[in-house]
Amino acid sequence: MILLDQLDAGLEQLNAKSLRRRRRTADSACAPRVTVDGNPMLAFCSNDYLGLAAHPNIIAALQQGASLYGVGSGASHLISGHSRAHAILEERLADFMAPHLESARALYFCTGYMANLAVLSGLAAIAANEAEIFSESLNHASLIDGAKLSRARVQVYPHADLIALQAMLEASTAATKIVVTDSVFSMDGELAPIPAILALCEKYHAWLVIDDAHGFGALGEHGRGVLEHFHLRSANLVYMGTLGKAAGVGGAFVAAHASVIDWLVQKARPYIYTTAAPPALAHALLTSLDIIGGAEGHARRVHLQQLIAQLRGDLRLQRWKLMPSDTAIQPIIIGDNAESMRAAASLYEQGIWVPAIRPPTVADGTARLRITLSAAHTHDDVACLLDAVNQLELN
Ligand SMILES: *Cc1c(COP(=O)(O)O)cnc(C)c1O
Repeated sequence: MILLDQLDAGLEQLNAKSLRRRRRTADSACAPRVTVDGNPMLAFCSNDYLGLAAHPNIIAALQQGASLYGVGSGASHLISGHSRAHAILEERLADFMAPHLESARALYFCTGYMANLAVLSGLAAIAANEAEIFSESLNHASLIDGAKLSRARVQVYPHADLIALQAMLEASTAATKIVVTDSVFSMDGELAPIPAILALCEKYHAWLVIDDAHGFGALGEHGRGVLEHFHLRSANLVYMGTLGKAAGVGGAFVAAHASVIDWLVQKARPYIYTTAAPPALAHALLTSLDIIGGAEGHARRVHLQQLIAQLRGDLRLQRWKLMPSDTAIQPIIIGDNAESMRAAASLYEQGIWVPAIRPPTVADGTARLRITLSAAHTHDDVACLLDAVNQLELN
């Protein structure tokens, strides 16, 4: 029993530090009004920023996709699992992102986690031992893991510190330089200074890999994400967008110059050695893209911005601190792990579901409530949340 005793002791330690994680089970579709473990709740937790996760047209498209293509893809993309649905989706994604990339092509992945592993390990593989990755300190775990998998030399630059990044690039003699950053920091909601980072990458002939998990669909006039938000276009860009957040379905894509994409198809193990996602998902994503890029998507983004303004305008905090974010991610920093857990538990008892985020997901001493808004929320929903939070902090 020695092995199990070790695990039980480890779990006990997590308990003692208020770091033990527990899952809640949702009984209904992802939406502001959900049933969780049998209780009706008002939820502010999902990354379904446009409220598309249960959109009737996308549900219908998924059903149609299953009729057309069946359920499983049956194999990896390079064997026989690459279906017409995947091919059409990749063409649509490339067209969608074309204003921002030279000779754009796109590659669809099962998850964003895998896409990030693939991009970093794949790009580094061109230069064997001569690649160097410059990674922003608040990057998502999948980028950190991708950098490790690449076996390239990795330097972490301090959050948003472009002077430090420039010094690192200046000093580097690596044949392949790769700068990688989240566009919207997932636990802060803040945007990275992408235009200035891109300028540095162009100056030092470095790739800029952007993880736009929280930007794609939500930012930009047409939902093309952070590149559209900042009106950027460059041949140095490798763009990763996820399709399980604002797009409401699942999977992710990398968009970049055709040569980058072809190289990933040849070399990126997280792309090659896995069964292709069900083609019906790719088919459903065509409808999701239509919505994102059309009038409905625009209206949803406008409504989301109004909800963000309402939240920031009407929150009255004394001790806790709202982070400076203009995106749908609106964290309230509480600091202490146990106090954050109590706050989340108290909201939960009132029927409001907001997750508490603790280390190691965020830095020690910065435990927080991570509120996420969705275009599916109403102004009344947000008012209800604000009343509860304003009350809670006074007690
Ligand atoms: C969610 C997320 C990912 C992973 O995407 P999945 O499709 O959920 O695997 C990658 N990067 C960031 C910043 C994310 O928030």
